[in-house]
Amino acid sequence: MTDGRKAVCVIGWPIAHSRSPLIHNYWIKQHGLDAEYRREAVPPGEFEAFAARLRERGYIGANVTVPHKQAALNVASPDDRARAVGAANALWYEDGSLRATNTDVEGFLANLDAATPGWDRGLESAIVLGAGGGARAVVFALLSRDVERVYVINRSPERAAALKKQFGARVQVARWEETTGLLGGAGLLVNATPLGMTGQPPLEINLRCPPSLVVADLVYDPLVTGLLAAARERGLRTADGLGMLLQQAVRGFELWFGIRPQVTAELRALLEADLTQHLPPRPHAEMKRQAAPVKPRRNKLRRGGFSA
Ligand code: NAP
Repeated sequence: MTDGRKAVCVIGWPIAHSRSPLIHNYWIKQHGLDAEYRREAVPPGEFEAFAARLRERGYIGANVTVPHKQAALNVASPDDRARAVGAANALWYEDGSLRATNTDVEGFLANLDAATPGWDRGLESAIVLGAGGGARAVVFALLSRDVERVYVINRSPERAAALKKQFGARVQVARWEETTGLLGGAGLLVNATPLGMTGQPPLEINLRCPPSLVVADLVYDPLVTGLLAAARERGLRTADGLGMLLQQAVRGFELWFGIRPQVTAELRALLEADLTQHLPPRPHAEMKRQAAPVKPRRNKLRRGGFSA
């Protein structure tokens, strides 16, 4: 790397599957910047030490992904958004100190605004499936748009209850079997679980709902999930996970390089081609360094016969 060349990375474990380099290196090239965006495979337990020496390693900032999004709050000074969501996915230096933010919130909103304009007009209730990091960003985003009620439905009810405790009375916890009943009165359904992703169990859901329902899926591999396909078959408006992935990248780039990049049709086509040409991500060599194998978790959802 020559003097003056800027570097940014995405830190995760595993990281080989990350599409962030494709997005940011496209913008770097488009804007003629002397910069580079790389992947950094950092196992759990080594993230804090890595982030503490981020600048010494030559980086002006970073994205942070699974499993380090919560830990990112402790290595930097988080903004209000990251603190409220409980996870950060972007790090940057401000006045010499490392800051952290969560760009999934604006990525989720910008994607819905672009794909389904007017989706939040008079929106009284929304249903969010999941209570992990993605779901927390979604709930925070929905409350910021004055959605009156957000029903959170999760495999582990205690995680949904924790979300309600944090975000207050506008968040309600519901059970999986209540989903269809709730769909009748909801304006928005969001899947913030990995269900429907390549290599994961399908999301089985009966979309008995009014034609005004908007459906969003955070999963972007495959591009068109079973949920989105079912929604489109019914003529419902949809927003996909790839759109969110692209939109959430905008703020990070702006924080590092001072340029607000555009999510263009050409960039989206590049990502679509990459997603459809490549085989589903497989455990990468870097994972071999990981400790004990994780016992597969039983899918209570399917076992419990989620047929809402
Ligand atoms: P996370 O923090 O690990 O949370 C996962 C959530 O899904 C938890 O609520 C978990 O329930 C639930 N879940 C996991 N496996 C399940 C199963 N087999 N059956 C039922 N529920 C299950 O993950 P995350 O970061 O929120 O990510 C969730 C999904 O969103 C992933 O597919 C991720 O790639 C995607 N995502 C996409 C974007 C984007 O830009 N498009 C951004 C963020 C996330 P429990 O609480 O019971 O474990």
